[in-house]
This record gives sequence, C-alpha cells and structure tokens, in this order.
Amino acid sequence: MSTPVKHAFSNAAFVALKDVQLQTALDRGMTRAVNGRVAAMSETSNAPALRQQARRARLDALARLPELLEQFETAVIANGGHVLWAEDAAEANALLVDLCKRENVTRITKGKSMVSEEAGVNHALEQAGIEVVESDLGEYILQLAGEPPSHIVFPVVHKTRQQVATVLQSTLNMPPTDDPEMMTRFVRGVMREKFLASELGISGANFAVAETGAIVTCENEGNNRLSTTMPRIQLAIVGIEKILATMEDLGTLMQLLPRSATGQRITVYNNIMTGPRKPGEKDGPEAFYVLLLDNGRSRILASEYAESLACIRCGACMNICPVYQNVGGHAYGAVYPGPIGSIVTPLLNGLSTAPELPQASSLCGACQAACPVDIAIPAMLLKLRRDLNDTKQTGAIWRIGMRIWRIGMRSKALYDIGTAAGRITTRLLGGESGVLRRLPPPLNGWTDSRDFPALSRERFRDRLARRSKTP
Ligand code: SF4
Repeated sequence: MSTPVKHAFSNAAFVALKDVQLQTALDRGMTRAVNGRVAAMSETSNAPALRQQARRARLDALARLPELLEQFETAVIANGGHVLWAEDAAEANALLVDLCKRENVTRITKGKSMVSEEAGVNHALEQAGIEVVESDLGEYILQLAGEPPSHIVFPVVHKTRQQVATVLQSTLNMPPTDDPEMMTRFVRGVMREKFLASELGISGANFAVAETGAIVTCENEGNNRLSTTMPRIQLAIVGIEKILATMEDLGTLMQLLPRSATGQRITVYNNIMTGPRKPGEKDGPEAFYVLLLDNGRSRILASEYAESLACIRCGACMNICPVYQNVGGHAYGAVYPGPIGSIVTPLLNGLSTAPELPQASSLCGACQAACPVDIAIPAMLLKLRRDLNDTKQTGAIWRIGMRIWRIGMRSKALYDIGTAAGRITTRLLGGESGVLRRLPPPLNGWTDSRDFPALSRERFRDRLARRSKTP
C-alpha cells in the first residue's frame, strides 16, 4: 500500500520537469509510441468498430466475472493445472513462498508482470531467501538499478541508452559500449544461464481465457516463453479482471493490444499456455499453476468505477497524456502511472493515499480517444475529484474557492461583475505585456511554472454577438 505524502505528485513532477535526461528520454519514447500506435491502427479496416467490439468483450466478461472465473478454474484443472486464489497481496506472497518451499525452489526467472509489481512479489520471495531474476530486458535493467518501472509497457523508458550502459557496466562489468544491440547481446548471455538454472518460471498474463483455461502473454523478447517453458514449474500470476470469455474474444483483443501498446500488428511471441507437459510431449513444464489475485478488484467491480477494470494495460493513454509525457511514470509514485493509473491507484490503495492523482490531468480527453477499449477515463477522474471533495480531501481554500465559483456561475449579474473585475485586475497587474508572471498566494502555484495571460478585453459572448450583427 502506498504511503500518503501530501503533495508527493506535485513535488516529484517539479523535479521531473527539470531533469534534462528524463525529458530527453520521454520525448523520444513517447513520440515513437504515439506515432507507432496511430500508424498501426490506421491499417485496420474499421478501427472504431473494432474498438467497440473489444469494449463489449471486456465489459461482458466483467459483468459475468464470478461465473467466468469458475469456468476458468474448471478448465485449468481439466488441463492438469492448479489454481490458487488470493484475496490480497499478502496471501498471494504467502502462497508463492509456500509453493517454493514445497517444491524446493531456490531460483526463479520471471517475465514482466505489473500485478506482481503491485503485490510486491520479488521482495517477498527474496525475503524468503529465493533468487528472483527479471527476464524482460527493461525490467532486468531496473532490477539491477534498484528502481521500479516507470511505464507499464516500456518499463525503462525514463532512461537514455547512456544511462542504461552505466547501469550494466557498474553492476555486471559489461565492456564499455552504449550500442543497444551490443548491450542486448551481453544481457542475453547473462540471462541464458539464469534460465537454465531456474526451477520456477513466473509470468503475468495479458489475458486468461475462461473457455479453455489458457493463459496468454504477448511479448517481443522471447523471455516470457523461456521463463515459462524451461523451468520445471510454471506459475502465472493474474489479476482476476484479466479474464476473457472465449478464444474469439481473444482474437478481437489481440488485434488491438499490440497496435495500441507498441505500434505492431502483432507481437513477435504470442504464448497461449494451457497446462503442464502432457504424456509424450517433448517440452513444457512438469507443473502448471495459476495464481488469481483479487487485491481490491472485487470492490472496484461493485462500484461505479467498474469500467476501469476493462483496461488491457496497453499504455496508450500514458503515451498520449500531456501530463505523463512531461513528468514520466515515477512522479505518480505508483505501480500504475498515467491517466488509468490515476484512477486505479486511488481505487486500489484508498483515495487518501493518492489525493493528487485524480487532479493530475487536464481532462483533454486524449486518453479516452487513444484507449483501445474506449474507457471513460476523464469521466472517472471527474468522479474521483467529486469523491475527494465529498470527503473533504481537497483543502479548505479549494473548497471555498469552488463554492464562490459556483455562486458566480449561477448568477448572470455576478458572472458579469466577476469577469469585468477579472479583466480590469489582470490588465492592471499584467502591465503593458498583459501577462502576469507572478500571482499572489494562494494562486502562485500557477505562476510558479507558467505565465497567466490577462483576460481578453472582449468576452467571447460579446464578440459573438458583435460578429453575428455584422452583415
Ligand atoms: S486505460 Fe485504455 S489506453 Fe490506458 S492502458 Fe488501459 S487499455 Fe490502454
């Protein structure tokens, strides 16, 4: 659970905005991601219809979640696998440690999994004396650097390649180079030994299909496939919302996830895993486990925020968000950053742990427009702001200001007086340039990082009336 720190987001955002290397890395990474998604989506024959089909598949699955989870469990068991259920992170970690002890597991390789970040799986296993190695290149670099991911798809997007080279040289003695291909080749050599030695492979899941009991992972490095096929035991840790009803629904979602996440028509490796090795099969794990984690999702499902669980974790809303683009993922101080993270984090951990996050949005709507399942992100951010206000977590000055604003907006006379006063005051304070460089407290937060242009001499409604009278 996050620790509530007043102004944690704004303090971190100010630091991030002044970090030149972070700004360089974000600029390159986000531009590439947005352009890639737009190009890949433009290749689909009917993107709006596909989005709505995907949305229906996700919302239908959520509406039938208890039934589909039971169907999924039955299918996994019929395939020869085992299903573990965890209500929260502590229970998930206890089950994992217990399994490792029972099966004499001391070394684990792990594919990228945000839900395992959420549950703090690595920490719990390491506390129990078990070695866990992240096998995704970005995640491995961060594990070596001792940092959390800053993006759900591009975990190391906040680092330049020169910074990555420094991490690899200082922790693994890599020969000096910052050539991405050489660095990847070097890490591949290190990882190969880890794969061969591990007894348990952990993966996340992009989807879990109720109809077949399949776990689906989409990736580009092949590390997930190695993590889940080379060790003798395979375990997928899966948030319960990841369920899909049918393989047909999977077909719909698979057309959108890679396009939205990495701008690819399809990822290089798409793994559909349905259980342990069968008699006569040459490879695959001897045992197959799925750990289904709730960790607050049932509570969200029963609330007016249930739609947030339809997220397929593609990261498109982060890439396009003007706030994320400028401050990066670490400023959010949460496993799930960006617009959807600003909804999910307070819902999972409690509004009081992250009161600034619902405000960390301009509500421009770019997130919803980019979302492959059309999640109403701005509307939910607004509802969370309402909740903050209702529970008096917005601060007295803010609430008084909003009350005054509301009174003014409801009365034409007060509105006219207010805008006239605003025009005169801002023009007087702004001087010749008409731009205020410094507002007095408590409004100085605005001008700490940007100007405040004086209000226009002519109101929009007056200009409109004048123009409509002009022949
Ligand atoms: S909210 Fe939509 S765009 Fe954002 S990560 Fe989830 S699926 Fe992708």
